[in-house]
Amino acid sequence: MKVPYTNFAKQIEDDGVEVLAAMRAVMARGDFILGKEVNDFEERFATYCGTKHAVGVANGTDSLFLSMLALGIKPGDEVITCPNSWISTAASIALIGARPVFVDVCEDQNMDPDKLQQAITAKTKAIIPVHLGGRPAKMEDINVIAGFRNIPVIEDAAQSVGSSLNGKRTGSMGVCASFSLHPLKNLNALGDAGIITTNSDALATRLRKLRNHGLRNRDECDFWGYNSRLDTLQAAVLIPRLLQLGRTIQRRKAVASHYSEALQKCVVVPSEGQNEFHSYHTYVVKAPDRDRLREYLDRQGIETKIHYPIPIHLQRAASHLGYSRGSFPQVEADALRILSLPINQYLTDDQVEHVIESIYNFYT
Ligand SMILES: *Cc1c(COP(=O)(O)O)cnc(C)c1O
Repeated sequence: MKVPYTNFAKQIEDDGVEVLAAMRAVMARGDFILGKEVNDFEERFATYCGTKHAVGVANGTDSLFLSMLALGIKPGDEVITCPNSWISTAASIALIGARPVFVDVCEDQNMDPDKLQQAITAKTKAIIPVHLGGRPAKMEDINVIAGFRNIPVIEDAAQSVGSSLNGKRTGSMGVCASFSLHPLKNLNALGDAGIITTNSDALATRLRKLRNHGLRNRDECDFWGYNSRLDTLQAAVLIPRLLQLGRTIQRRKAVASHYSEALQKCVVVPSEGQNEFHSYHTYVVKAPDRDRLREYLDRQGIETKIHYPIPIHLQRAASHLGYSRGSFPQVEADALRILSLPINQYLTDDQVEHVIESIYNFYT
């Protein structure tokens, strides 16, 4: 039996009729750039997250980069984040000319507020916690620490659409938040797409110009900007998928609770706090003898992934930052044990059972 990590064929079987009709309508009108679906999707997405605004951009990396530009982050500033994220969290900081300052994580793989406190300096101009895998970071503690020094918090919510903490959706708890709508994310376009949420009118206005050449209208340019708009075609695809997102997450959560119940004797399963709603972009266990387990599962037809095998501070690109092995013990220890099991919403009960049995067999 094969258990694939993703299943795009099944997704288009599921929503292809609606998605193609939506794309066809855009093609017939021809408003490919900032067409009506972009605005429509932005409004629906803001409502979903519980924010006043949402600004669609070309991808999740641009949504981090443009958020920092809109907040006035400059070369020489320091921005604090975690070293166990997708590389663009750190890269977008570095590409502005600012310095990525890493802090270690807690057992839950998210930013440790105590370590954050210790890392703040007079140069700290933003904090970017990542809701890794869909599990919300400790936003309340982080906001208290940041608020004390008036430092803006940008949520990297790329993996956490639909997650919440104490009833508040991720994306609504920072000054602004960055989402990726990449094909591999829980809410996914047919290519690259991203979106930024915020409650600030000023920030939203600035972001709308930044993504569109600095234009205030068709002919007047206020400052040099970028070409980083969300395509109308992608927005048209995302509208019906946003309507299905509740169902998507529900199925992923059902698989997760099945896994957790069955696997807690062999591996460390993800914990979920009373006040947390984890949307399970990834289902990550911490497993003894991880590499051999991974090979064994591969032989059983089960595709797994590691998010992420090399912490960012140990990447060659980060060598100028002066970190080394031992700088972030929790992240480094996790990198050797973490394994992401298949959790896509199209898994059948038989496939889920096959994963559980295979892991059991490996350890016994
Ligand atoms: C996917 C992702 C991004 C970048 O998104 P893209 O749309 O691929 O540019 C940024 N941060 C995290 C945590 C991600 O998972």
